[in-house]
Amino acid sequence: MIHTHDTIHIIGGGLAGCEAAWQVARAGLKAVLYEMRPARSTEAHKTDQLAELVCSNSLKSEGENSAPWLLKEELRRLHSLLIGDIAPRVRVPAGHALTVDRELFAAEVTRMLEAEPLIEIRREEVTKLDPDKIWIIASGPLTSDALAEEIARITGSERLFFYDSISPIVDAESIDRTIAFAESRYGKSLDGTADYINCPFNKEEYEAFLDALLEARSVPAHIEQDNVRYFEACLPVEEIARRGRDTLRFGPMKPMGLTDPRTGRRPWAVVQLRAENARAGSYNLVGFQNHMRFPEQERVFRMIPGLQNAEFLRFGQVHRNTYINGPALLTGTLQLRANPNVFFAGQISGVEGYVESIATGFLAGRYAAALAQGRAITAPPRLTALGSLTAYVSGADPTHYQPANITFDLLPKLEQPPRDKKQRYAEVCRRALAALEEMRV
Ligand SMILES: Cc1cc2nc3c(=O)[nH]c(=O)nc-3n(C[C@H](O)[C@H](O)[C@H](O)COP(=O)(O)OP(=O)(O)OC[C@H]3O[C@@H](n4cnc5c(N)ncnc54)[C@H](O)[C@@H]3O)c2cc1C
Repeated sequence: MIHTHDTIHIIGGGLAGCEAAWQVARAGLKAVLYEMRPARSTEAHKTDQLAELVCSNSLKSEGENSAPWLLKEELRRLHSLLIGDIAPRVRVPAGHALTVDRELFAAEVTRMLEAEPLIEIRREEVTKLDPDKIWIIASGPLTSDALAEEIARITGSERLFFYDSISPIVDAESIDRTIAFAESRYGKSLDGTADYINCPFNKEEYEAFLDALLEARSVPAHIEQDNVRYFEACLPVEEIARRGRDTLRFGPMKPMGLTDPRTGRRPWAVVQLRAENARAGSYNLVGFQNHMRFPEQERVFRMIPGLQNAEFLRFGQVHRNTYINGPALLTGTLQLRANPNVFFAGQISGVEGYVESIATGFLAGRYAAALAQGRAITAPPRLTALGSLTAYVSGADPTHYQPANITFDLLPKLEQPPRDKKQRYAEVCRRALAALEEMRV
């Protein structure tokens, strides 16, 4: 069907929504951007400005050939407003990271969007979606309750995920396989091969690990709710540990059905590592979502036998987050499978992080404009960071879905990877940027 809409309706004047609105306007279409602040605010926003950074002011590493750099570099080459134009103009010195003056950043986004004749900003809360319009839903992790209900209705979901509890991920190559062993509990696995790698503890190691876990310093709560309303299944691991010295051993660290090949006996406790679906060469620490500071996670989790040299690709987190189950609901072009006139972008689409939110906003804006103008929509090549992020959001395993930030394990593996990690990452980046040249969205 050829669509001939001239307006795209975008919910949320945050990072994703602002980038999306700009891209719609660049395609020559009208964007109506709905932002509920200041009439109604969220638990984390403090101003009425568009694109407010609610916590840190870092847009992550600018170290060449790192995964966060690659995503930003792709966005720069494709003329993203927030990353390519505004962030460099309001940058503050911070080593290798792209760190911005948050007030200038938000003020500049607000100024530019207000000055753009094709963008109309409406300061109102959206609670219902008109099915005859094209929508981009970019209402963020703190989507208003009324809209969350409407999204649950149109997606046919019982409820949206409410807490974002993310377990740490380690690079497979950094696991010491002379200690950690592959085995599924009681030898049960889906396809006859062991689904898990197990890190075995003896009693002394377990007790020392528990002490370190209980003493580790937490991140301060971002918002009041961060500390209270956990789903039982998403309890931070340090909270479970506080319930009793053996609670972990009978919970996520239970050793039942496992035999350590080094001793021929059942370990006292284990940490299980599960291969990450859609992530090559990396393992998730099952049940280890937590609230600890990142350096503390590195220190404490390296006490796990087999992980003494672990390289962490992602740290655990728990924070209030509303997001849809992207793989169950979205196409590779961020459209609802059940209604292609509805796009999702930003944190609510199932990505994690400022730049990832901007990236999906960028794509949704371009896609929605193409749909409205009757042009073909094509996803970015799979070899790019943009393509890999959206492939994950729409194609990961829906049963264990957790939002992702950009890491190299989301990108396809090299056929002949150089042994040296620096060279490997450089080659992945070179390949991604070459593939980007083919991109037409
Ligand atoms: C407390 C907290 C701290 C975070 N800290 C970091 C961090 O330090 N670094 C990082 O990389 N990521 C962080 N994130 C994750 C994420 O990157 C940010 O939340 C980011 O702002 C997400 O961008 P977004 O565009 O999806 O949502 P937002 O930037 O939150 O934008 C969504 C906008 O939609 C508006 N809105 C909501 N409902 C409606 C409605 N019904 N009608 C109209 N408007 C509506 C909101 O007011 C908001 O302005 C954090 C998240 C949270 C919740």
